[in-house]
Parts: sequence; C-alpha cells; structure tokens
Amino acid sequence: MVQVTEQQILPQLAARHVPHSLRNLLSLWINPLISQPPFPSLSLQSFYYDGMPSITDEEFDLLKDELVWSGSKVAVLSSDEQRFLEAQMAFNKGTPIMSNEDFDKLKLRLKESSSAIALQGPRCSIRSRIMYSDAQVDYLKLVALNIPAALLVLFALFSIDDLTGFEVTKFIELPQPWGPTFVWGLLLPVIYVLASSLTNLAFKDALVLKAKCPSCGTENTSYFGDIFVVAGSRDKNEVACPNCKAKLSFDAVKRQVTVQPAAGEAA
Ligand SMILES: [Zn+2]
Repeated sequence: MVQVTEQQILPQLAARHVPHSLRNLLSLWINPLISQPPFPSLSLQSFYYDGMPSITDEEFDLLKDELVWSGSKVAVLSSDEQRFLEAQMAFNKGTPIMSNEDFDKLKLRLKESSSAIALQGPRCSIRSRIMYSDAQVDYLKLVALNIPAALLVLFALFSIDDLTGFEVTKFIELPQPWGPTFVWGLLLPVIYVLASSLTNLAFKDALVLKAKCPSCGTENTSYFGDIFVVAGSRDKNEVACPNCKAKLSFDAVKRQVTVQPAAGEAA
C-alpha cells in the first residue's frame, strides 16, 4: 500500500491534468509546496518534457482513485483526454509529440464524445482569417424532440382506456404487487418504445448541434437529419445568427462553426 499525501498529489495532478492556462495559476500555489523538502524533484516540467514522471503509473492510479473518491472531478479524465492535454502542452512548448493530423483526429473523437476538454470558444485563424468555434451536441433539444411522440402515445393510451370502459385503469389499480408491476414492467416500457420509434420515424438521423457565434458569442443551434419526408442535411447547414446576423456554417462532421464572409468581402 502506497501512502500518499496532498503534497504528492498536487504536483502530479498539475503535471498530468491541468490545461495550459490553468497551469500557470496553479503553479502559484503549487510551487511553494514542491520547493519544500522532501519533494525537491517534483516539477511540472519533468513529466511532460523530460518524460520522467516522479511516481509510477501504479502509484498514479492510486492517487487518481483517492481523488475520485474524495469528489475531485479533475481526476476523472479518459486516456484520450489525457493524451489531448499532453499533446497540447507539448505543442505549446514547441516540442510536439504527435502529428497535426493525429491531433485533429484525437480532437474530433473527443468532440464527438462531447468531452468538455476539447471544446474551445470562438477564435480566429490568423492564416486563413476565418473565425470559427466548436459545436457540441445539444442533448436537451434532442430529448425534447421526443415530447410530441410521447404525448401522442399517452393520448392514444387514454383514448383506449376510455373506449374500453377503463380497462387500462383497472390494471393500473390492481393491488400490490400487480399494479406497479404492470405500470413499470409493461406500460412504461411500451410507451417508451412506441414514442422513440415514432420519433425516429419523424426525425430520421436527428442531430442537434449548438455553438457560440464566432462573431458575437450568442448561442446558435442547428438541426441535422430528416423531418418526416423532408430530407435534411447531414453534414453542413447554413444559419444566420439571430443576434448579429452573421452567416454561420455548421459542419456536423468536423463539429465546427465558421463565419461565412459577407457578400463582396470574399477573397
Ligand atoms: Zn452572432
């Protein structure tokens, strides 16, 4: 069993998990800790740039478990997220550890899994002068798509109940355990399956993305997929920002939003 102290945890965490911008902030209060004996060799740089972690992977996993159990969210990173942070830090330092191509692939994978680590707000490419921001799935709106179908199924259920002289109600009101078993074991699953099948019929391949407008920061959403028989786009959508009227192009594949140049301004 490895005994761990907070003084061991903090520098290790900083070295492995903290994004560049936060790192400087954290180092303000971590540095005094690590410069005190008996931890002279622990440094933020050593793990990334010398490849010399000061504890073993086994010890690190143990530290991580302890942090998770004590409620820290910082420690709950997937291996992809960890790799992404490492790659970004190494790149900032001028010593990239993976190709641009691999980095973009990794980032896309993280975006698709809705990892907050890979999401960045509005920014601008100096080279192409294109303003863009990252898009993420709007789960709330995706769930909301199911509401009409759920209401329809419930309405049908009440109608059946009414027409059959409250046969359904009789089952629901059966004494324990039959009534609750009927509701939870049969009625609710059937409603769920029917509602989601109807929703899938109405909104085929539905995907709702949201992103901040690169021009003004207002949140914009865009729907991908079909609506009933109307075929919708699955890769690109053009929308106008409701606030600043900028023409935005949502890319569902890259999970990115770019500002389209206004007419007459094109290169
Ligand atoms: Zn805008």
